[in-house]
Amino acid sequence: MLDLIKLRNRHGYQSIRDIPNAKLSGMHRGFPVIDESKCMDDCQKCSDICPASAISLKPLSIDIGKCTFCGECERVCGYGSVKFINEYKSGSTDREKLIITSNKSFEEFRKDAIIKRKEIHKLFGRSLKFRQVSAAGCNGCEMELAACSNVNFDMGRFGIDFVASPRHADGVVITGPVSKNMAPALMDAFNSVNEPKIVIAAGACAISGGIFAESDELNRKFFDEIKIDLYIPGCPPHPLNFINSVLDFIRKK
Ligand code: SF4
Ligand code: SF4
Repeated sequence: MLDLIKLRNRHGYQSIRDIPNAKLSGMHRGFPVIDESKCMDDCQKCSDICPASAISLKPLSIDIGKCTFCGECERVCGYGSVKFINEYKSGSTDREKLIITSNKSFEEFRKDAIIKRKEIHKLFGRSLKFRQVSAAGCNGCEMELAACSNVNFDMGRFGIDFVASPRHADGVVITGPVSKNMAPALMDAFNSVNEPKIVIAAGACAISGGIFAESDELNRKFFDEIKIDLYIPGCPPHPLNFINSVLDFIRKK
């Protein structure tokens, strides 16, 4: 027993203590800072190379709801018009706010990216259970969402967990672009969650179809019929982005 206590003591505290203020290394590609004034006339190298059709020109913008954060646009540009910084908190309650335009700072984006609602805090502020629906994702998003509950990120300490049955859940987290085969299952899972409920689209695929957006094999009618409460970009979203976006939404911090 004494040995076990010593071992436990040696392990120390394994979790990230301050999730809202946790930093990622400079290597992490988070928020895109765009400066269109540096662009050369008629250059469209970034838009040509983008695998996700996330870049619009004139005016230059990046849709982080489509972006895979591959970094190719930054690499190919050469003029410094696009630069990804390591700020990872990119959740938004408004799909339109995910379109980042020239000279938009991260602080400006964050100011009104997540609209907080009193009733959400009252209902889900202390306990929030999700059923995760993997609707034809590549498993990248699913892996990162699973990591949210590991000892490092320990999302459970905020009362937020994933549960096995939609009957036990307060909401649905969707990952993947939603294939024809998964569309009825997604709707079934959604219908099985009691009202009031929250719906989150996590990852580029769920938000916009991502790199599969043009595929005939998708059926994304769900997004026409059901209001999405929170969009969390990434390919996949970092666990810190998921946890902080949800915490911001339920005003738990
Ligand atoms: S980082 Fe995003 S916007 Fe840039 S090329 Fe990759 S997918 Fe496109
Ligand atoms: S958003 Fe990226 S990581 Fe997530 S399911 Fe799609 S391709 Fe995979």
